[in-house]
Amino acid sequence: MRYNNVFNRNKTPQSQPIPNSGQVPNSAGGYAWAVNDWTRLSRFLVLGSEGGSYYATEQKLTVENAEAVRRCIQADGARTIQEIVAISDAGRAPRNDPALFALAMCAAYGNDPTRRAALDALPKVARIGTHLFHFAEYVNGMRGWGRGLREGVARWYEGQPSGAALAGQVVKYRQRDGWSHRDLLRLSHPKTTDAVRNAIYSWVVDGWEDVGVEPHPDPTLRTLWAFERVQKATSEAEVAALVREYELPMETVPTEMRGKAVWEAVLPHAGLTFLIRNLVNLSRVGILRKGAWSEVKAITDRLTDAQALKRARIHPIQLLSALTVYCEGNSARGGEGWEVVPQVVEALDQAFYLSFGHVETAGNRWVLALDVSGSMGGGQVAGVPGLTPRTASAAMAMVTYKVEPQVEVVAFCDRMTPLTLTRNQRLDDVLKVTGGLPFGATDCALPMQWALKNRVLADTFVVYTDSETWFGKVHPAQALRDYRQQTGIAARLVVVGMVSNGFTIADPNDAGMLDVVGFDTSAPEVIRQFAARSL
Ligand code: CA
Repeated sequence: MRYNNVFNRNKTPQSQPIPNSGQVPNSAGGYAWAVNDWTRLSRFLVLGSEGGSYYATEQKLTVENAEAVRRCIQADGARTIQEIVAISDAGRAPRNDPALFALAMCAAYGNDPTRRAALDALPKVARIGTHLFHFAEYVNGMRGWGRGLREGVARWYEGQPSGAALAGQVVKYRQRDGWSHRDLLRLSHPKTTDAVRNAIYSWVVDGWEDVGVEPHPDPTLRTLWAFERVQKATSEAEVAALVREYELPMETVPTEMRGKAVWEAVLPHAGLTFLIRNLVNLSRVGILRKGAWSEVKAITDRLTDAQALKRARIHPIQLLSALTVYCEGNSARGGEGWEVVPQVVEALDQAFYLSFGHVETAGNRWVLALDVSGSMGGGQVAGVPGLTPRTASAAMAMVTYKVEPQVEVVAFCDRMTPLTLTRNQRLDDVLKVTGGLPFGATDCALPMQWALKNRVLADTFVVYTDSETWFGKVHPAQALRDYRQQTGIAARLVVVGMVSNGFTIADPNDAGMLDVVGFDTSAPEVIRQFAARSL
């Protein structure tokens, strides 16, 4: 027996831990490192746990993540809140629910200063009424409605920058998750000396007995008046006129009144999030169609306005999701389809890259490696139906691929999988290409071994994976060290975590390996800095 075949720091099968490395069993029967709780917190905040993963149900993944959040709160409540605010406020995550959930945990399970700080941070994380309702529902399941919490919610209302902003919130976001402004105002009793704000609160709680046909004399309260008139309106033309004149959002319009004239009236003042979510509706009512040049241009101009995308916190996943749904129009079944306008598809494709902000070039040599094994085809990224870690990885890799001149993009499972992606390929096509690859077992050491064998010179390997590796004869970290030794290149490894689980193939004791979270919009810049050796 060759003892060192079994117990060897440089060459260990993935089914065993590297001796003295601190590795733990992953879910696939292999060994990897456990990420620390802070990395797990950011994975949860960005990727969420909706849809679960290949190995864990949604429920199990959520519980695991909640336990990690709780450990973060115990270790350092202030840092936990800081991280939640940083990711939520900058729009780095596709969905805000994990941030609201984690903030509710801080408000429930933190020590006194942490609980106070969590409620102080509430307006930064709960930026619209819907967020506030989600927070109320989360926190309601974790703690009682004591004075601190009531005051925290009251401050959310008191902190609305103007009466008009408050009026906008209460007509646009009226209820969610069984919570309404009425419920929250009754619990929290915000204070004000302002007559207009007072009138808004009393409208929310008690309504108006009489809504006259004449516009309300106060310009702010006129929004509430217009809302009431819309509810009483008997024709679409009447609704459209009110919506246009008082710039009401679509949320104020009863569903049966949402015809073409109303959509046209909403569009000029509608937000970018609304626009992106409603491309299919705009097509179905006949506003967005081939040859409607001025409508198409108005929409594509907005979609490709980098500043506006940033201001509205549009996340690349939202655009990816909108793009894939919109592209289905031509093939939708049962005559339910819509006309897909190529300019809109192109604008969404462009917007995806713009929404990461400006991504610079590191300029050195790269291998971008997509884990396309079976497990990467399970679960959803950020709760988007059909968007698996496997397909999402390809879109994420495109962000770096677009800006770097010297890149090899490869795919692997238990073998290297032929893959051709070009820089100019459109995202809907990129997703189709990777979605169609065969599945297999997982060996995350392959990209480094492949590069060594084929003399592909690389300064940085980026592996997009769930780190559930188990098949290979050596660990990925060992394969990287072997590559360094044999090529003389101090190659680095970035692990882009595509699932909110607790594992990584990056050796935490090797400064040349780094964990980032897939689809954190700040990830491409962090990857670039690490690749450029400035991190
Ligand atoms: Ca796998």
